Amino acid sequence: MTKRPRVRFAPSPTGGLHLGGVRTVLYNYLFAKKNGGDFVLRIEDTDQSRYVPGAEEYIFNCLDWVGLTPDESPLHGGPFGPYRQSERKPMYRQYAEQLVKAGHAYYAFDTPEELEKMRQDFKTEQNPSPQYDHTLRMKMRNSLSLSEAETQQLLDSGTRHVIRIKMPEQETISFTDMIRGEVSFDTSLVDDKVLLKADNMPTYHLAVVVDDYLMQITHAFRGEEWLPSAPVHILCWKYLFGLDQMPQWAHLPLILGPNGKLSKRDGAKYGFPVFAMNWTDPKTNELTEGFREKGFLPEAFINLLALLGWNDGTEKEIFTKEELINAFSLDRVHSAGAKFDYEKAKWFNHEWIKNADASALKPVVKTILEEKGLTVNDEALLEKVIGLVKDRCTLLPDFYEQAGFFFQRPAVLDTESVKPKWNDAKNLFFAEVIRNFELSPVWEAHELEANFKEIAAANKIKPGEVLMPFRIMLVGGKFGPHVFDIAALLGKEETIHRIKNALSLFA
Ligand code: GLU
Repeated sequence: MTKRPRVRFAPSPTGGLHLGGVRTVLYNYLFAKKNGGDFVLRIEDTDQSRYVPGAEEYIFNCLDWVGLTPDESPLHGGPFGPYRQSERKPMYRQYAEQLVKAGHAYYAFDTPEELEKMRQDFKTEQNPSPQYDHTLRMKMRNSLSLSEAETQQLLDSGTRHVIRIKMPEQETISFTDMIRGEVSFDTSLVDDKVLLKADNMPTYHLAVVVDDYLMQITHAFRGEEWLPSAPVHILCWKYLFGLDQMPQWAHLPLILGPNGKLSKRDGAKYGFPVFAMNWTDPKTNELTEGFREKGFLPEAFINLLALLGWNDGTEKEIFTKEELINAFSLDRVHSAGAKFDYEKAKWFNHEWIKNADASALKPVVKTILEEKGLTVNDEALLEKVIGLVKDRCTLLPDFYEQAGFFFQRPAVLDTESVKPKWNDAKNLFFAEVIRNFELSPVWEAHELEANFKEIAAANKIKPGEVLMPFRIMLVGGKFGPHVFDIAALLGKEETIHRIKNALSLFA
């Protein structure tokens, strides 16, 4: 690589950031960091009609949460700013004019009504949605169909107009995509896209080329939905700056649901955003739950995203961010769509929770418990509890069920599971357990278990008959880690209290 790599993530602030968007960020980031380059975040807000207030802040917050911090952005600044396209508005017209002068673009004066009429007049069975292209452009009102004088007169009188690219006829445009290899397009099939709108705002097609050039972008990663626009961008590069300046393109494959395309309706289930949006989604009119609210760890989230369409050539699946930076290479990104499987995503999270240090999980678990109304005063206890139950937690809210009873006595006990087989012998047994526990000089799981079983043997009771009731006494139901570990952490006084309380309910 000759030039220092510079990559960009260029979201439009039109909604939440979904799986595919964050994967694009991630591949940008990994590529930049692996090759000692810069990761730029550029906000593409030229389409003001689709602008959603709050969406930009949301994007920053998402990147913050996943720990993929840009080197340059509207927030972080940098030598190539501004990084918000609306703030770069005055820069674009000159490039569009340059294309007009060179004969690669033209002024088009058609009104919305005239455009609609064209769509109606030229609609045929074979061509149900006619486009503004080389077959129709001479039938429209533009600087190619009108005389120079007419054009000048319209411009002088301030007539609203756009600038459109003049797509050449029957030219083949080819480029080498870093993921798909050689890709070719027939320019005759592409319409004359608008480059500059009537309000002097560029469209995405012009802005992406001008900004990638001015920001010295070397590699451009984007979703494959942009592939059909590539010939427009490549021609703009060719006409304006020369193809040797053009970044290398990588069009990332779609993320698919288990049964094919990840449909909008599957959204809530599979494509949900990184975290709940702080505005009401205009499309669904609902606040959407995201990966963060579902209880994913950011480390697990980027790990599972990295593996959606990439692997390191081995069976290895669990990667830290640093490991990903080291191992990442574009030639191992698959060109076929990657299947997103929510169950597999949960598996990643479970692995990350299981392997995390209890101390690292402490703040987030504390928040979860406190949000549910529990008070956690003893941080040392919390850390021990996390260590004890984390193997059983797939998503972070599972900590409430698995650990909540350490901080709050169970509100209800599953007495139904105990009462039918309850008898005096069990009452006597637990009375003896209480006495034994009260006198016990050590309060340690192993010791408690040994004593409990000894008493059972002495009373001719099978441990199996009293273990489940004991568990229900302590946690309220048939769940949780090893029951003597629970008792050890609850402490003598609390354990005895819970046994006594339960006995009054079981009898
Ligand atoms: N603004 C485009 C989008 O929202 C970015 C495409 C690109 O990265 O070139 O997806």
